[in-house]
Amino acid sequence: METHYIFVTGGVASSLGKGIISASLANLLIARGYRVTIQKLDPYINVDPGTLNPYEHGECYVTEDGAETDLDLGHYERFTNIPTSQKNNVTTGRIYLDVITKERQGYFLGQTVQVIPHITDEIQNSIKALGNTGNFDFVIIEIGGTVGDIESLPFIEAVRQLRWGNAGRTVIIHLTLVPFLAATKELKTKPTQHSVKTLLEQGLQPDIIVCRTEHDINESLRKKIALFCNVEPQSVLQSIDAKSIYDVPILMYKEGLDREVLRKMNIVCDKEPNLDYWKEFLRKLEYPKHSVTIGLIGKYVELNDAYKSIIESFTHAGVANECKVKIELIHSEHINEENYQQQLEHLDAILVAPGFGTRGIEGKIIAIKYARVNNIPFLGICLGMQCAVIEFARNVLKWKDAHSTEINPDTPYPVIDMMEKQKKISGMGGTMRLGAYPCALKKGSKAFTAYQNENIRERHRHRYEFNNNYLADFEKAGLVATGINKSQNLVEIIELPSHFWFVGVQFHPEYKSTVMKNHPLFVVFVKAAMQYKSGK
Ligand code: GLN
Repeated sequence: METHYIFVTGGVASSLGKGIISASLANLLIARGYRVTIQKLDPYINVDPGTLNPYEHGECYVTEDGAETDLDLGHYERFTNIPTSQKNNVTTGRIYLDVITKERQGYFLGQTVQVIPHITDEIQNSIKALGNTGNFDFVIIEIGGTVGDIESLPFIEAVRQLRWGNAGRTVIIHLTLVPFLAATKELKTKPTQHSVKTLLEQGLQPDIIVCRTEHDINESLRKKIALFCNVEPQSVLQSIDAKSIYDVPILMYKEGLDREVLRKMNIVCDKEPNLDYWKEFLRKLEYPKHSVTIGLIGKYVELNDAYKSIIESFTHAGVANECKVKIELIHSEHINEENYQQQLEHLDAILVAPGFGTRGIEGKIIAIKYARVNNIPFLGICLGMQCAVIEFARNVLKWKDAHSTEINPDTPYPVIDMMEKQKKISGMGGTMRLGAYPCALKKGSKAFTAYQNENIRERHRHRYEFNNNYLADFEKAGLVATGINKSQNLVEIIELPSHFWFVGVQFHPEYKSTVMKNHPLFVVFVKAAMQYKSGK
């Protein structure tokens, strides 16, 4: 089947869930047997979100091939179980960088380089780069931002042009908000009408309108939206607030989103999607048999989005254990020598999050000591693993002032140090050790028990590493390396074999947990929390 393109635009407000709608549609089409991928077009000028503060943009998600991307790609992978790549996230910054690089190389042979056609051509090329691989029946393209934003204009224009060249093989879904006015107890359609009007002014007629709503939208409202927005009444669908994001594929199936998309493209599909696995996942999610409370210690706790993949990994691992994982976000800056007991004693397990820079480090180290001394299940991810090494150096090896050179370049014990390759790099974007690398596990370790495999591949995003000069001292004192990248001789996993469950990983397991394939480390960590709780 030739590649078909489905565009998802948004109107009225941001944060309506375009990413979840796109991921849910992909999920339904895959469940019907199609090959699908999702691409996110982001209108900001950063070349990628790697340099964005998590307060600004939430988590930076890392793909297998080492792209630093928007967190929506995490949803795509969690919902589809298909890895994304560098090609799946394109920003305005990336487009301009590529066009300007070509211009500097003389590629345009003296032409005046303009938004139309050069920028819009480049956008189209990025979209078609996925379609042209021949790997996909459908490419779903989510356009970031809201229709009417100055920044998204070139993207909308590129879609308009691409539509002309691919008649019958494109569909436009517009997601809007239908607000409920509590005072008059009414759902209002006017903002949707205006947002479709804006889209029409820019040359795009939506085929399907998905209305985000807190209350059911009745037939007469759907007809009204259809009439004013120039679509068929059956093409007006609702996306009602859901208990969990994982309910959305089923809700959209009930609304007929996948059927409507296929109908608009004249694709006959007799096969209904097989949603058995998904429904079973939802049943277990709704009716857990057990519960645990796990502390997630980091410095961006005001904002759930900063730890999106970790939180979702716990949802998946919870379901695998039929256990509700209550996550308590604890600000590492608020943990100190006076209050740590009160902050941590009720927890069944502790996870110390990834991060960068000095702020909140000492609180993380105090929490790790508490977990180590009290046999509380502990998982440290990236900076969390590095802090576990520092804690052990200071409190067990008695190396006062041991530190990472990221935080104290003059430490007498640089137990975490910058990777050799990183020392020559001065630029900031896309220059860390990024993406998937192999790791060999030591048999008999907790990690091996979790993975049941000697060779794994996990994704990375860091500049610093365990300093091998100290490895023998650590191992003698009881902290051992149980996962190694052999070709680069890097410590990837540390454990305390004498502890009930204490594991630190230099990589990010959270990027690889999906509904269909929950991550073994999280599954076993939650299990350890359950065991710890039952033995309390
Ligand atoms: N700041 C640390 C490093 O660069 C850890 C990074 C992380 O937690 N992702 O190595």
